[in-house]
Amino acid sequence: MGEAVDFVIVGTVITADPRRRVFLDGAVAVDGGRIASVGPRAEVEAAFTGRTRLGGPRDLVVPGLIDTHNHMAQALVRGLAFEDLPNITRIYIPAEDVLGVEGLKTSARVTMANLLRAGVTTTTDTTGTPEHEDAVGETALEMGIRCALAVGQRDRRSRLASNYEQIEGRSEYSDDPVRREENIAHIDEFLTRWGPRGDGQVRPYIHAPSVPSVSDEMFLAARELAERHDTAVMTHINRDREEIELSVSLFGRRPIEHLAQIGALGPRFLAIHAMLTTAREIGLLASAGAKLAHAPVVCTDIVSAVTDVVAMRAAGVTVGLGCDTVINDILAVARIAYLMHGQAAGIPMYDPVGFTAEDAFDMATIDGARALLWEHEIGSLEPGKAADVAVFDGENPRLSPRYNPVGALMRYGAGTDVKSVLVNGRLAVDEGRVLAVDEAELLAEADEVAARMRDHLMPRRYWPLTRRSQLL
Ligand SMILES: [Zn+2]
Repeated sequence: MGEAVDFVIVGTVITADPRRRVFLDGAVAVDGGRIASVGPRAEVEAAFTGRTRLGGPRDLVVPGLIDTHNHMAQALVRGLAFEDLPNITRIYIPAEDVLGVEGLKTSARVTMANLLRAGVTTTTDTTGTPEHEDAVGETALEMGIRCALAVGQRDRRSRLASNYEQIEGRSEYSDDPVRREENIAHIDEFLTRWGPRGDGQVRPYIHAPSVPSVSDEMFLAARELAERHDTAVMTHINRDREEIELSVSLFGRRPIEHLAQIGALGPRFLAIHAMLTTAREIGLLASAGAKLAHAPVVCTDIVSAVTDVVAMRAAGVTVGLGCDTVINDILAVARIAYLMHGQAAGIPMYDPVGFTAEDAFDMATIDGARALLWEHEIGSLEPGKAADVAVFDGENPRLSPRYNPVGALMRYGAGTDVKSVLVNGRLAVDEGRVLAVDEAELLAEADEVAARMRDHLMPRRYWPLTRRSQLL
């Protein structure tokens, strides 16, 4: 009998470690929230006996998947927003006001349950409503998911004058220094309080929402706070044409150029989206050591450019994946990224290996951890790291036979194949069910909030909910 540990998990183990080892008949031992051992099953089982045994000979055992960008407040509104553009200020932002704190908690539970069931062990929140911040952190602790929780407010108002005939005059902005000082004090307090409170599971970050809504002074203060509290700054950037137009009209520079110019970029800067990014801006991100949270589904949802992830990675930018609420399943998102970038980068040069399944897997695991500056704890299965593990059921025709387990998972796997999930060494999903909530009760609760959403937001839509289908 080997040493008793909390869990021994068996199956094909994809480690995402520096050598990218895959143990075809492997095992992972977990004890006290940490990974104790990873290797060939015979060796691990000779040394350790699990009080609980998970996995099976055909199962796939992978690092918990990492979602580097999401909004916990948007799960119950997303279905009212797609294909009805533009939708941010018309639908998504008013939805946050309708939610209230209880509704937000329901929305966060639905998002987190959705993610956990799909093998996602780390999510990220950048919701901008101060009353929601603690509620998101508390809900993450309750649901047993790891969360990068970013807070921060806007302190700049800006207005884009464009060639639309109803707008006259010049583009302009005005800053609010009082609001800025309050924001800095609030972020400082939040980072100080949630550092220890998050118990290693909820980690506080800074959200500097966007170039049009944040002053230069605030970006620099955010950078200083991030260094002092060992965390990162997250900013939605180069997302749509209006943002670029505004930045060029106000500063004579594109948004990423502007942040580089004022000294706001650095290794603790996580750019969100960066769809409309020039080669020069990619160079600026890379030379600063900045990271990218890439949400490929949003490129299509808002009909914006496809982020040039292949060029970013080639330049040395670390790229993680984000669900951004639209599809809360990183495996699905990674597959979309794989197909999208395989095509975008592959067609001009006929390069079928310009972006591979293994690249997509890295973005869903270890590179996501790096993007969040959390790679010392998560993102790969290595002894000493936190035990965040997802087990995919291999007893189904979808994943058999498999010659290359990473390729099979990326091409053929599905979030619904997840049967067990550990976060910080605690079982969060068992037999495909989230353990922290009664899922039937949660769905009933979500239906009530959704009815309120629908009443409030339907009049704001341009189009009926369907174009051709009849909802009878
Ligand atoms: Zn976002």
